[in-house]
Amino acid sequence: MTETTPVLSGLRGRCPRCGRGKLFTGYLRIADRCDYCGEHLGHLRADDGPAFFAMLAATVLGVPVGLLLAAWTDLGAGGMVAALSAAVVALCLVLLPLFKGAMIGALWRHGLRGDETQ
Ligand SMILES: [Zn+2]
Repeated sequence: MTETTPVLSGLRGRCPRCGRGKLFTGYLRIADRCDYCGEHLGHLRADDGPAFFAMLAATVLGVPVGLLLAAWTDLGAGGMVAALSAAVVALCLVLLPLFKGAMIGALWRHGLRGDETQ
């Protein structure tokens, strides 16, 4: 066992129980079981939560970047839209697995599966 929280382990893409095994088998696919401790992980569902938080963070971070681009460059309106759109999409793609891992860690920590309302 490592000295970490389930949320931080998930943020690093590691099993929320042991912090060592891989949480993902692909970009966003949750592993059925931890390859280190055998914890069952495949039943945990984060649904749209990680996408919401990734888009929120990318948008909030995109505003100062847009202001800096407007102040320091001469891209024009079309160039600004293209540059900011690409930056926000790229940032969302980077942040999505981080937020999904953290959310899976939080679900595991509280003994939830993510489908309690069904
Ligand atoms: Zn594990």
